[in-house]
Amino acid sequence: MRTSRTSDPLAELLRGDWADPETGAATGVGIAAIAIEESLRGKEADLVAALGLGRRLAVVSDVVTHDVLGARIETAVAPHARIDRIVLPRDPHADMPTVEVVRAQSADADALIAVGSGTINDLAKFAAARDGKPYAVFATAPSMNGYTSANAAITVGGHKKTLPATLARGVFIDLAVLAAAPPRMIRAGLGDSLCRATAQVDWLLSHHLLGTAYRAAPFALLERDEPALLDAPEALLAGDLDAIRALARTLVLSGIGMTLCGGSYPASQGEHLISHYLDMRACADGPENLHGEQVAVATMTMARIQEAMLDGPAPVLRTTSIDLRGLQEHFGDEVGTACWHDFAPKRLDAARAAALTERAAEQWEALRRRAAAARISADRLASVMRRAGGPVSAADIGVDAATWAGAVRHARFLRDRFTFLDLADDAGVLSTRFAH
Ligand SMILES: [Zn+2]
Repeated sequence: MRTSRTSDPLAELLRGDWADPETGAATGVGIAAIAIEESLRGKEADLVAALGLGRRLAVVSDVVTHDVLGARIETAVAPHARIDRIVLPRDPHADMPTVEVVRAQSADADALIAVGSGTINDLAKFAAARDGKPYAVFATAPSMNGYTSANAAITVGGHKKTLPATLARGVFIDLAVLAAAPPRMIRAGLGDSLCRATAQVDWLLSHHLLGTAYRAAPFALLERDEPALLDAPEALLAGDLDAIRALARTLVLSGIGMTLCGGSYPASQGEHLISHYLDMRACADGPENLHGEQVAVATMTMARIQEAMLDGPAPVLRTTSIDLRGLQEHFGDEVGTACWHDFAPKRLDAARAAALTERAAEQWEALRRRAAAARISADRLASVMRRAGGPVSAADIGVDAATWAGAVRHARFLRDRFTFLDLADDAGVLSTRFAH
């Protein structure tokens, strides 16, 4: 069962009658309104009013997004509600001190309205969740898939964490605003979309080898819009509103897919672990990359690993040699211990290595078949990203080859998620073939 290309899954989800491709169950999403239109000018007040957010609203932006859209939202909503205007300095960080600034300045508000992209959305989403208030978001860039997810990426004590927050009550996307976003942010959004392919193949691996629950629903949601991104990526940078619409819908539906699954499985696997590792190890004077830029390059790496492994015979897996001490030496005591907690369930002793080798042999053909239907070749991914002018190699994002190889080798220790990084390392080929 596949969703028809002619129906609109987003409209159906908002009505609560999208048919889950596996169960047929009518499926909705806990977001009252999602508007994606060529222009929302003149409609802002009505969109906000329909959400019933209350009489006093905190509008959260930074000096850049305030100029781009925040001032317009404040002016539009002011006749209908009391506005607390929160304008953060340029390049704010989604960290706890800034969350506390937003909470303090929105203390008297009934709800928060974010006007921005990743950082502002995460700050407002997390601050709203902390105070048990609703929030809505007006997007300013198609740079990541967090507008419709219930989690927020917040830096706590120097470490970026994915923390439970709240779903937006309304997600409002003015395509003319998004089309005028900085090109790097548009390319980053493309990167955070292309990883659908590698995340799906990693999830299938875990499903076939470990029996991890897998869902087709999040991928069915994305089928309709993906061809536009793959076939004409340069249109994204040419101000083509239909192309920007496909990207915005992809990001919105990707976030909804995560929400449906109760986890980031469909949109965050090996490629996100590599990006996450770079975030953790980034030094203050390192390159300031956007999430989607790192994910774009990591997606190419994962696609090559997946292709090479799947083109070969079923792997023979070996016992895991790294131990708590080894992780502490690499990551430091505190982070190393936390990694051990997540990684230990994936460790293979001799018996598990033998059992998993047997399982891989049994499942290899079935996995290959399903991966073939899901994957996009590494060459095509690179070509798509190149046509959009985006990064395809570590050097393109200012990361030297040794650092990149280190990220590929160590990313699997960060989480319990089992991906092709684990399979390659357990087969003894990760560092020799893919990360040297
Ligand atoms: Zn992402």
